[in-house]
Amino acid sequence: MPFIEFTNLSKTFSNGFCALKEINFSVQKEEFLAVVGPSGCGKTTLLRILAGLETPSAGSIAVDGISINDQEPKERNIGMVFQNYALFPHLSTFDNMAFGLKSQKISKDEIKQLVLRSAQRLELSELLDRKPHQLSGGQKQRVALGRLLSKNPKIHLLDEPLSNLDAHLRNSMRVELKKLHMEHKSTTLFVTHDQVEAMTLGHRICVMRKGKVEQIGTPKEIYQSPSNQFVAQFFGSPPINLIKGNLSSAENGEVNFTGDGFAFKIPLNLVPTKAGQVVLGIRAEDIMLPSESESSSSSLLEAEILSVDDLGDSKVIHLRQDNLVILMKSTAGFKIPKNKIKYAPNWGKIHWFDAVRGHRLKKG
Ligand code: ATP
Repeated sequence: MPFIEFTNLSKTFSNGFCALKEINFSVQKEEFLAVVGPSGCGKTTLLRILAGLETPSAGSIAVDGISINDQEPKERNIGMVFQNYALFPHLSTFDNMAFGLKSQKISKDEIKQLVLRSAQRLELSELLDRKPHQLSGGQKQRVALGRLLSKNPKIHLLDEPLSNLDAHLRNSMRVELKKLHMEHKSTTLFVTHDQVEAMTLGHRICVMRKGKVEQIGTPKEIYQSPSNQFVAQFFGSPPINLIKGNLSSAENGEVNFTGDGFAFKIPLNLVPTKAGQVVLGIRAEDIMLPSESESSSSSLLEAEILSVDDLGDSKVIHLRQDNLVILMKSTAGFKIPKNKIKYAPNWGKIHWFDAVRGHRLKKG
């Protein structure tokens, strides 16, 4: 049975702006769901409605099979870490972290133990006497996280909790969050802009755009079978190559895919049944170099090298193939030829999308 269930949930603000449109999905008990999408797509609004800080305009939310629409925030046993920390300015780190616990029936000693344990995990032990104005942005964010961990409600809502941390702390907090989740097993909705964070932390990822859910799936499903062009573009670095063109009739088991100044021959069983204009998607790592492609049946193509981004652990090569610019990825050690490079798209790994509506098209 789903643990959290959103049914036809919509939110229109008093100024008429519709921030959420017919949201339908569920979250399993103990699941860690990463919620991603461009700025303004409704991620925070979704979390605020779940926490009871905002009322939905339509639809319902159930937790463990019971509707929580009419429950007050404090009845919901849901904790949220806000983007802007929301710490009490007059309280010390210790008191901020103990705040939620004081309303529960537990002894002072127990509260102290819980706070000290969270503080240690979050490297806050030295800062327990400080007030928020004496803390850096990253430290404030950790106090907010500490407040949640000390109380440990049954649902954790995290709104970009790592966004103000430096790269080092962000990495270690990511590992820490994973460990904490394995230990506490709280059902978690985690909002992030960072695709690596979503991929590494989320059991599943919910991709939103303009108040709607575009796709929910495991990181592998989202990456390997994006349900539309938007999701395909949102994940992957460098971004997926998207090439608009026309599929024409088959010849010798191959179909011509042609467009503005380019022509590819693609095996018949790897193209969609839909004829006419479509979009081909191919990820940079699915374009093979000569050494890798010799064993493949694809014939080699040749393109001009426009530029190379050396990322240390790999290289991103910008190619010009006729009128197209295509990005491919090589290993760090690959010796880049001077002007031209031979390559072979791994046609088995390509994606197809409708050219107008952007949805995924089936092959064969
Ligand atoms: P970000 O990643 O930038 O935090 P988000 O995906 O969390 O964005 P929300 O904060 O949920 O987006 O906002 C969704 C949309 O609703 C935005 O266009 C925002 O301007 C609008 N919005 C939020 N709160 C209100 C409000 N109280 N009244 C009117 N519009 C609002």
